[in-house]
Amino acid sequence: MKYISTRGDAPVLDFEGATLAGLATDGGLYVPEQWPQFSAAQIRSMRGLPYVKLTTEIMRPFVEGCLSEQELADLSAQAYANFSHSAIAPIKQLDEQLFFMELFQGPTLAFKDFALQLLGQLFGHFLQKRGQTCTIVGATSGDTGSAAIEAVRGLSAVKLFMLYPHGKVSDVQRRQMTSVDDANIFNLAVDGHFDDCQNLVKAMFNDAPFRNDLQLSAVNSINWARICAQIVYYFRAALVLGAPDQPVSFSVPTGNFGNIFAAYAAKQMGLPIEQLIIGSNKNDILTRFFETGKMQQSGTQASLSPSMDIQISSNFERFLFEASGRDAALINNLMDSFATEKSFSVSDELYAACKSHFSAHRLDDNETKAQIKHWHQQTGEVIDPHSAIGLAAAQARRSSNKVPVVCMGTAHPAKFADAVAPTIEAQVELPARLAKVMQKEEHFTRIENDLSQVQAFVREHSA
Ligand SMILES: *Cc1c(COP(=O)(O)O)cnc(C)c1O
Repeated sequence: MKYISTRGDAPVLDFEGATLAGLATDGGLYVPEQWPQFSAAQIRSMRGLPYVKLTTEIMRPFVEGCLSEQELADLSAQAYANFSHSAIAPIKQLDEQLFFMELFQGPTLAFKDFALQLLGQLFGHFLQKRGQTCTIVGATSGDTGSAAIEAVRGLSAVKLFMLYPHGKVSDVQRRQMTSVDDANIFNLAVDGHFDDCQNLVKAMFNDAPFRNDLQLSAVNSINWARICAQIVYYFRAALVLGAPDQPVSFSVPTGNFGNIFAAYAAKQMGLPIEQLIIGSNKNDILTRFFETGKMQQSGTQASLSPSMDIQISSNFERFLFEASGRDAALINNLMDSFATEKSFSVSDELYAACKSHFSAHRLDDNETKAQIKHWHQQTGEVIDPHSAIGLAAAQARRSSNKVPVVCMGTAHPAKFADAVAPTIEAQVELPARLAKVMQKEEHFTRIENDLSQVQAFVREHSA
């Protein structure tokens, strides 16, 4: 399988190249040259497969030419060995035709582990094969940092530097990062805001000699391999509920559009999906786009679901590329306008194409709390604020009561206990692996918001 850029002007790469590159050199995102197709009979034959085996079946066409079937099977087994539920992605029934997939059984208790655990394995494998090392730098406001750290800790070919704003991430989130004591992990507590951290990372990438000397790499959510790993659980959910003979719908709390884009990919590959429902918080740029046909940035506001507090849904570019019939020239125009004017509008035709695949719904913080309270009272389940938005969106936007809707549970409620506990007026139970983290010694280096100091630190410790 080959991968092409959404902006049409970057080298065509194989899976290995696209994984190690992350972003394309023309600023675009890599997508597969064509979508692998699974027939109804092939999908039927996947029923009952264990999760790791299903991962191998779904990903095989994507990695063709880069990994043997045995290598893919081994890396997948390693990636999901550290999940605390034997089903990896268990499903609960909450109501007639309303289901909840728990994507938070991984090491850092959020769905990002599905992609990053596998990405860590892939980086280790490809770098070892090439006899190369790399330096990963990243910025985090919370969930991504710990998921990336857990994914690459202990890998000898990788050094990871994670920048986070000092004093501005929650205790749980900080300790999930700083309790890791592997020698290849460096936490940098920057005196500044998340945006400062992100700007420092961008500046390091824009410094070409620095980037080349250190073999800089990124594991952010535009990496194709992350999307690829996420496709698997959509197949899994649908198979459990009767696919391909029963269509299903999905509702996904959405920020960067990576998770729900994987659902769209599953649909392109032949999985019968009725509806794809986007849930947003008050940072509702996507919901407004589906209401108006205009993508318009406004300021980011803090909400109860911080992992969705963003204004740029990077992976939406991949969907626009598909919905426009893979029109790279158009994508360049739209993205230029988005960078300079902070907005873009699509034609009536493209708008209609977008709406034929997705519907969207927004929830403010009070509605989110009400949703958490509702499910706790009805079922005893404790739902985190992100997942609660997906549940509400499903009920508001579903078009039929005959089609099961699966809502994606993206985080364990204990990660967001500050918001959840007062809402349900009860303690949120701390899972064992989180309780352990809260007692460990912390490892981090406090550093000024100063590019030359950060670069000096990275250079010194990546040697
Ligand atoms: C990252 C994240 C999201 C948003 O996922 P996208 O792929 O960025 O749309 C939702 N919920 C949680 C808990 C997250 O960590």
